[in-house]
Amino acid sequence: MKSLALLHASQLVTLAGPKRPRVGKELSELGIIRDGGMLIRDGKIDIVGKSDEIEKKSKDAEILDLGGRVALPGFVDAHTHLVFGGNRLEDFERRARGETYEQLAKAGGGIWSTVERTRAASEDELLKRAKKHAEWFLKCGTTTVEAKSGYGLTLDDELKILRVMQQLNRETPLEIVPTFLGAHAVPRDASPDEYVDLVINKILPRVAKEKLAEFCDVFCERGYFDVEQSRKIFTAARKLGLKLRGHVDQLTNSGGAKLMADLGATTADHLEKTDEQGIAALKAANVQPVLLPGSVYALGSTSYPRAREMIEAGLAVVLATDFNPGSSPTPSMPMILSLACTQMKMSPAEAITAATINAAYSLNRGDKIGSLEPGKLANFSVFDCEDYRELAYWFGISQTHAVYARGENVVRF
Ligand SMILES: [Zn+2]
Repeated sequence: MKSLALLHASQLVTLAGPKRPRVGKELSELGIIRDGGMLIRDGKIDIVGKSDEIEKKSKDAEILDLGGRVALPGFVDAHTHLVFGGNRLEDFERRARGETYEQLAKAGGGIWSTVERTRAASEDELLKRAKKHAEWFLKCGTTTVEAKSGYGLTLDDELKILRVMQQLNRETPLEIVPTFLGAHAVPRDASPDEYVDLVINKILPRVAKEKLAEFCDVFCERGYFDVEQSRKIFTAARKLGLKLRGHVDQLTNSGGAKLMADLGATTADHLEKTDEQGIAALKAANVQPVLLPGSVYALGSTSYPRAREMIEAGLAVVLATDFNPGSSPTPSMPMILSLACTQMKMSPAEAITAATINAAYSLNRGDKIGSLEPGKLANFSVFDCEDYRELAYWFGISQTHAVYARGENVVRF
């Protein structure tokens, strides 16, 4: 049996609490232990407490002295587009010059350019690229990510992306939770209804049969998939045993939040345009909102979702990066914490809860990760600061000192 004793964290931010997503005031309760420590055995947390208690109980253990640094559960990023070919540097520069999304698409940019690059890439090329992204996430202190397909838009290319995720899960310490997002855009050579039929009759059954995804997602938005088309895809996915998350109300308030509530989805993501009725519907159906301030920031918009109203309404808010090449090219959860506090007026404690334990529940993994409690996986990150609030306060600098996944050191600075 391999044991590791963690000692002398200035703050061991445990997030210990009820075994469910946190709401209201609970979002501010981080379960901090000063001069905290943990005993880890075989990749799992055995005891959590004050350093002197842990030290007494860890005679045979390897000692890891944190020297007064902060330790937290590894971040759980519940919304990313991890696997893609190429980048969108041309779009980035054109947008900086003031061009609109329509102008970018006309110039050969936009999501379609990423679809072409992803289709052209072999499985090996995509894997190599995705490994680099996985390394970035780990360096930012994230140990679990949800990852979506959606840059293939054909049977073979969607399966290729999902297989790359499977491979990545085996070959890197980052845990990947796969989501099928075949309905990310309508391919150029099909009508929306033809493509919806292809997704429902051909792609979804293969994804389910080969167990390549745990969740199904749809981009429900004007110009992509309307509420009725989205409902058809989600209903088919649910019948095949997939759980649901949706890109909704990002650019227009199209009733997407209400749709996710009607379907009993696990999460509704984006929600920049969701109003009081949408918030009430999510609350009534216990759907977790996943907020993505990185995409609002990177697109140069100021239309952030109404995080405060959602918290006051009792929703179990989640924060995620939306890591993707077009609208949110960041793997950094600390950057998202900064945006949550400065732009959405969440407190640092609320933001950390939303990026750990609440995110873990939104991925059906609340019993295994997201907090530092006995029995859970020893996934944790150590940062070069004394107070957890510094994570959201200093921005544009990495404070990561070390990252552990299942008790193994995977990043050390
Ligand atoms: Zn997204």
